Amino acid sequence: MPASPIATSVAAVAVIGSLNMDLRVQTPRLPAPGETLIGTGFSTDSGGKGANQAVAAARMGAAVAMLGRVGRDAHGAALTQALQADGIDTSAVGQDTDAPTGTAIIVLMPSGENSIIVIPGANHRYTPAEVAASASAIRQAKVAVAQLECPLDTVRAALALAHGAGVCTVLNAAPAQPLDDALLAAVDWLVVNEIEAEMLTGLPTDTPAQIEAAAHTLRQRGPSQVVVTLGSAGLLHVGPDGALALPAPRVTAVDTTGAGDTFVGALAAGLAEGLPIPAALTRAQVAAALAVTRLGTQSAMPTRAEVEAFTP
Ligand code: ADP
Repeated sequence: MPASPIATSVAAVAVIGSLNMDLRVQTPRLPAPGETLIGTGFSTDSGGKGANQAVAAARMGAAVAMLGRVGRDAHGAALTQALQADGIDTSAVGQDTDAPTGTAIIVLMPSGENSIIVIPGANHRYTPAEVAASASAIRQAKVAVAQLECPLDTVRAALALAHGAGVCTVLNAAPAQPLDDALLAAVDWLVVNEIEAEMLTGLPTDTPAQIEAAAHTLRQRGPSQVVVTLGSAGLLHVGPDGALALPAPRVTAVDTTGAGDTFVGALAAGLAEGLPIPAALTRAQVAAALAVTRLGTQSAMPTRAEVEAFTP
């Protein structure tokens, strides 16, 4: 993977969100209480939905600023350096002196099943006051992107600030949790998967008609553009001009972790560049499809050149 993005665009994306160090443990099974077990493998990877989406946008050539919080520890330094290696501005990534950097402990079993423990750490100490302190980074952006791994009040403050400044706002409502209409009123683009759409609306999302009904319901709550991502089946977009279903490019999936994050980051980059909506959605789908063909999350995200070279 090239160390820096292709600097062809002046697009500006501000990502407000989480940074986590992923610690991947491979084990034959979960240990019983009190038992010590010898595992079979270990690896670390930079993660957190915010950081992942920032990297995806940067690889599309966007100028990206990351806003968030890490601990004053080795993981925090490594995560920040990883973003910088992709050309991302980390001057608004604060360091918490008390809380550790966010960590995800991912326990992988031979069956392919995984059990995950997330310790939010510094992510949960990222406050509305800190968002206000980095207000200029949000106001200068063309697109502001948030997810739900930081405190809801912080997400709310960031979206309100961006919306009030006329910056296009993208909320990836993941992990799923209930949201109030006041927060959704500050969202221009809402991106959810089927599970999140179901959780937010209380409606079933088993059939295309049900998914479209849920998307319309979400639109009525504020966002003018709603995208429901459907894994290998692609997506449904509902905007002021109606509904558009786009199939995903056909690829051989190796690891679908981070598909949604790749999609959201690449979409934000496309919107910041001023691509027409269908083109921005299509390019984001190609980026996500390429990401699922490789192992890893940030390391699997494609560059703009790879996306442009892709032929289905
Ligand atoms: P999440 O990771 O948030 O659950 P999805 O699984 O819906 O999100 O994936 C997001 C997007 O990534 C999809 O809309 C699609 O474009 C792409 N994608 C995911 N899985 C595949 C796959 N197996 N093949 C091709 N594209 C995929």
